[in-house]
Amino acid sequence: MKKTAIILLLAAATAAVFFYRADIFTKKGAIIKRTRFMMDTLCTIQVPNEAGVSKTEAAISRAFDRMAELDIKFNCTNPGSPLYKFNNARVPITDPEIVELVKRALEISRETGGAFDITVQPLVDLWGFFTTSASSQTVPSPQSIKLALSRTGWRRISVKNGAVIAADKDVRIDLGGIAKGYSIGEAVKVLKAAGVRSALILAGGQVQVFGSAAPGVPWKVGVRNPRKEGYIAGLAFDSETGISTSGDYERFFEVNGVRYHHILDPKTGYPARGLMSLSVITQDPVWADALSTALFVMGPQRALEFVKRQSGSEVIIVNAEGEIVTSQADKVR
Ligand code: AMP
Ligand code: MG
Repeated sequence: MKKTAIILLLAAATAAVFFYRADIFTKKGAIIKRTRFMMDTLCTIQVPNEAGVSKTEAAISRAFDRMAELDIKFNCTNPGSPLYKFNNARVPITDPEIVELVKRALEISRETGGAFDITVQPLVDLWGFFTTSASSQTVPSPQSIKLALSRTGWRRISVKNGAVIAADKDVRIDLGGIAKGYSIGEAVKVLKAAGVRSALILAGGQVQVFGSAAPGVPWKVGVRNPRKEGYIAGLAFDSETGISTSGDYERFFEVNGVRYHHILDPKTGYPARGLMSLSVITQDPVWADALSTALFVMGPQRALEFVKRQSGSEVIIVNAEGEIVTSQADKVR
């Protein structure tokens, strides 16, 4: 895979130009951009207008519909979903799409030494990032964290004869750290099947592109500053690739000046420490999504070591001190 150059943007003025502003570099109206709220976040698809507005809009619409379908299927709080039935009534999951994604998640758990763990659901539930408003959130007691931890562990689920099964009655699955990447990958497939030759798909903190914004003009993507308006890095993508960012600013609350956020360390049961944000640049959106969550849990040092051992992935880290470190350059501020 072609290596993506990470351009660090230390001046806010230049940074602003970078963020998804493919339109700046192309003719007005040359890019068709549509947005829908899904997966609890804003999703945007941009496609260069090669095939005419109505044809392009129809393709974008089909891609969004596919993402919406997956949003319902992968949502463990939806009583109709196989995940809900598994979590609440131990019904083995046989939906091939979920089975495959769970399999992949378990492989990633193994590769990341358990930093990525889809059985963190009891902890996610306990911390209440998705059920309580930020203002009413409290830090759970050490005893309740211990209890929730005793109900987690990726080795307690397995895939046998095409079904996801639980080793005991307590284990529960949350695909929140990987489903968005899968959904984006499916949107790419739908767009390509509709004849689209290049697109940019954005869902919350994740972007995937293929093709280019215009002939010879790459898609431009910015990496958000985790603490204020503006961007810390810019990327120019002109081949099939993407970026996923996990950050402590997405869902959090503060108590006595301490920030508690939604990326949980499966070993401690508390929010992972040591980072403000971590972005993974790689070709496969599923890998990008899961890896950004996993590396966030691992912390800056282990994350860098992990990525440097890999080929085809880059990482941009903002550590707890606000310093930027990338797999291409050492600490820059
Ligand atoms: P992301 O924003 O992609 O980093 O994913 C965070 C979401 O993944 C959280 O909202 C949880 O639903 C789930 N999650 C939290 N911690 C973990 C973890 N250690 N492994 C897998 N999923 C997690
Ligand atoms: Mg993720």
